[in-house]
Amino acid sequence: MKDQPARPKPAWPLAGGARGRGLRIFTERDIDRIPALQRLPRELRFAMRVVARVLPFRVNEYVVEELIDWERVPADPVFQLTFPQPGMLDPADFARVADALRAEVGRDEVDALVREVRAGLNPHPSGQQELNVPRLNGRPLEGMQHKYRETVLFFPSQGQTCHSYCTFCFRWAQFVGDQELRFASREAESLHAYLKRHPEVSDLLITGGDPMVMKTRHLERYLEPLLGPGLDHIRNIRIGTKSLSFWPQRYVEDADADDLLGLLERLVARGRHVALMLHQNHPQELRTPMAEEAVRRVRETGAVIRSQSPVLAHVNDDPSVWSELWRRQVHLGIVPYYMFVERDTGARRYFELPLARAFDIYRDAMARVSGLARTARGPSMSAAPGKVEINGVSEIAGERVFSLRFLQARNPSWLHRPFHATFDPQATWLDGLKPAWGAESFFWEEDFEALCRRREMRSMAALPGGC
Ligand SMILES: *Cc1c(COP(=O)(O)O)cnc(C)c1O
Ligand code: SF4
Repeated sequence: MKDQPARPKPAWPLAGGARGRGLRIFTERDIDRIPALQRLPRELRFAMRVVARVLPFRVNEYVVEELIDWERVPADPVFQLTFPQPGMLDPADFARVADALRAEVGRDEVDALVREVRAGLNPHPSGQQELNVPRLNGRPLEGMQHKYRETVLFFPSQGQTCHSYCTFCFRWAQFVGDQELRFASREAESLHAYLKRHPEVSDLLITGGDPMVMKTRHLERYLEPLLGPGLDHIRNIRIGTKSLSFWPQRYVEDADADDLLGLLERLVARGRHVALMLHQNHPQELRTPMAEEAVRRVRETGAVIRSQSPVLAHVNDDPSVWSELWRRQVHLGIVPYYMFVERDTGARRYFELPLARAFDIYRDAMARVSGLARTARGPSMSAAPGKVEINGVSEIAGERVFSLRFLQARNPSWLHRPFHATFDPQATWLDGLKPAWGAESFFWEEDFEALCRRREMRSMAALPGGC
């Protein structure tokens, strides 16, 4: 947008040093070069190198310098969120990779070992790449997913990375170069053609990786045509992102920051609900002046910021963290949206919590905030049939049960119908739950199986969707 008046830049010296500095990134090769890490014991640094050889590691200077409290490392939640930790690998796998690195065996040998370890971490949670791929004139559309009637997910090819990587992210396999897991699409045209044919769709959700790593001119190519003919039914444009946490400069001092805000503003002015689906795991992520300024600028465009996050051991498995997170979000004008349950892949062994514990954290956190922060739903499992929320634990007809419901469902008629599973203090996912009172199946299962057969789905997996 050339004809927009320049936005006033904030007057104070912004966190992160010199204005306009580019995004400086550290990866696996740089672990010994990150100054702040030098104060950690050698053994821990070595362990981090071992894990970073297997799981993706990428962190930028802003996160290192502004978000991590180095006095609290290694317990610091943002450190846990971004830096590889010894417990993320199974001890036997860890030992094998560590031995190989110590013995300085050849690169090919380490690569082969690493491939083997990765294969054991469920890199393709149940063949997710075959699922929910929409078709146009019989041709499958790459980089798109259409699971719930109202909402189409789109994965633009330029947005398949992030400003930093989260250690828990279930898209880890794609970040370490697993080509098969890439959903990317270059085809803005087929996105728009598909949407034109589907008047039942009201929401487009652009996801990644993090789409906000894209230059504004790329985002414009996807978003601007939504204002053109035949696409009036796309009322809600959502962009999944963690950039407000990991690179708020995107909205303040990147070369095309003002153009980006102009784009959001134009979409809003033309009557679209524009939502940044912010991924925020801990209140510590939004405390810098840069982050506050970014939130302020986004809100000024008329876009809404909603926030979602999984509940994770080592990062935010504490009700007071969630109540502070939600309170702070309301204070900044961000709407708490979802609390998720961590998925079955990658470093799950390190982060997962029993559903019962996740629910206790949710309930205790809710009890500490006012109604304005109680817009967050959850804890929710984004599973094959839909998003299933744990609603409560009760004693009914002599049995202790989880009360559950769909917040999203492949079949909208399943929505908000309570169903019950036998209480299990260890269960961590929907597939670990059994129908209560000895029932054969949950009410939706038969319908779901029929639906899967009709769609010739080869698996029953849940869907990906980064930020
Ligand atoms: C979560 C999700 C959505 C969006 O669901 P909302 O409840 O509308 O936020 C859309 N598609 C898929 C595949 C999802 O997992
Ligand atoms: S997609 Fe989102 S959650 Fe995953 S690594 Fe990127 S920023 Fe983190």
